[in-house]
Amino acid sequence: MKPFVYQRVTDLADAVQQASQDEAKLIAGGTNLLDLMKLEIEKPAKLVDINGLALDQIEATSDGGMRIGALVTNSDLANHPRIRQDYAVLSRAILAGASGQLRNKATTGGNLLQRTRCHYFYQPDSACNKRKPGSGCPAIGGENRGLAILGVSDHCIAQHPSDMAVAMRLLDARVETRLPDGGSRQIPLVDFYCLPGDTPHIETVLQPGELITHVVLPAPPTGRHDYVKVRDRASYAFALVSIASVIEVQNGQLAAIRMAFGGIGVQPWRNEAAEAILLGSTGDSATIDQAADLLLCAAQPQTQNLFKVSLTRRLIHQAVQQALTRAGVAA
Ligand code: SF4
Repeated sequence: MKPFVYQRVTDLADAVQQASQDEAKLIAGGTNLLDLMKLEIEKPAKLVDINGLALDQIEATSDGGMRIGALVTNSDLANHPRIRQDYAVLSRAILAGASGQLRNKATTGGNLLQRTRCHYFYQPDSACNKRKPGSGCPAIGGENRGLAILGVSDHCIAQHPSDMAVAMRLLDARVETRLPDGGSRQIPLVDFYCLPGDTPHIETVLQPGELITHVVLPAPPTGRHDYVKVRDRASYAFALVSIASVIEVQNGQLAAIRMAFGGIGVQPWRNEAAEAILLGSTGDSATIDQAADLLLCAAQPQTQNLFKVSLTRRLIHQAVQQALTRAGVAA
C-alpha cells in the first residue's frame, strides 16, 4: 500500500477544504476504499477521516419525510423504527446487502459511492477504462455474468453494486451536499450518477471536494414495500437482479406502483414509463409483459448476462402477483 497522510476532521468546512486538495480522499466506514487502497487501485496521498463530523442523525422533516446523516451506518438505518415502518423497502434492501459486520461499519454516504464489483476493475494488471481511461474494457466479450445490461456503453458495462441505492431511487431520494465554496445543494438521486459513455471513470456529478452530508427522503409512498434480490448464494453476494417495489392494490387494480432494479443497470435503474403502463391495470400478464418490454427494450446483454433479461421479467411478474395475492386478489 502506498504511504499516505491520515487526518481526522471535526468541522464540515475543514473537511471540504481538506478533501478539495489534490489526491485527497474522504474516508468514513472505509469498507470499499481500504480494499481498493490495498490493491493500489486507489492511491490517495491523504485520507481525511470524517467520522468526527456530526452527521450521524436520522430526523423527521416537516413535510413528512426523513433526513439521514451521511455517517449513519447501514445497520442503524435499516433498524431505525420509522424506516422499518414507513420505508420498509429501504430497510429490506439494506439488510439484503453485505454482511452484518460490514453494515455496522458502512455508512449511508459511502454506500452511495461504492465502486463497481466488476472483476477486471479489481485486477490492477488488467485493462479497464474505469480504472485507467482509454485502456479498454475486457468485460465486453469477457467475464460479464454479473454486469449491466442497461445504460451500458462501448467503454464500460459495469453494474452499480448497491442495494440501498436501488431503494433510494425508488423513494425519490435527494442527496444533500456541502460544496467547496461553502454552499450546499440537493441532487435528486436520478441525476446523481453519470452514465458511463466514453468517461466511465466519472461516476457521479459530485465536484472535487464536494461532500455528501445527508440523504433526504420525501414522505413515504403508500402500498406494500418489498425488496427481492436474486444472487448466487443466500447471503453476502451482490445482486444478479434485484427489484424494489411499492405496490398498492385497490379494488383489484394497481392504484400505485413503483419499481426499481439492481444488478441490471450501470446505476440504480427505474423506468417510470413502464410503471405508468401498469398503473390502473389489473396486473394481468399481458400488461406486465408490456411494461417489461418497455423496461428492457434498450437492454444490451452480453453472452454471459443474457439471462438477466428474462430474470428481470419474471421478477416483475412475481412482484405484481404477490401484491395482488396479498391484497386478496386471485392472480
Ligand atoms: Fe472496467 Fe467497466 Fe470494463 Fe469492468 S466493465 S472492465 S469496470 S471498463
